[in-house]
Amino acid sequence: MKFVFPGDRIGYAEEYLVGEGVYEENGEIFASIAGTLEIKNKVVSVKSVKEIPELKRGDVVLGRVVDLRNSIALVEIARKEGVDRELKHTGIAALHISNVRNEYLKDFNNSIGYMDVLKARIIDSELLKLSTKEKEMGVLKAYCSSCKSEMILEGNKLKCIECGRVEGRKLSSDYGKGNWR
Ligand SMILES: [Zn+2]
Repeated sequence: MKFVFPGDRIGYAEEYLVGEGVYEENGEIFASIAGTLEIKNKVVSVKSVKEIPELKRGDVVLGRVVDLRNSIALVEIARKEGVDRELKHTGIAALHISNVRNEYLKDFNNSIGYMDVLKARIIDSELLKLSTKEKEMGVLKAYCSSCKSEMILEGNKLKCIECGRVEGRKLSSDYGKGNWR
């Protein structure tokens, strides 16, 4: 039995079919969750062994973007909305590019940034899949892609407090509220 982590390269898209817990990018297949690798009838999938018991489908969570690829953002979940304490178990959830906004996105530019703090809804608790399509969901706190400083909201754009760079995001209607380090 082989254990894989989110982002681990599993093989080529021409060798396998994409099952659950994996995603394809540029002809290669990667794990989107932590778990055990399974290959059945050419279908490659990753079975989660670390479902977070406190989380269920429909819950709203807060977390930080720890990795950003072409079609998937990996988010480290820190807490459940409305619950002050940190979760007893944490995990890496996956936000696929098709679940960021209601419209089609070519890439994450102007929608999600590295290290951003997100508010997202769990749409699959076993595979820890997220969605930020709703108005309240999205980026709660953003960091400048150039100098990594905090960005503040000006109109509907974000401006870096240090270098003045302006960027776009899929903003949560709660942007800037709450205290996140
Ligand atoms: Zn900056």
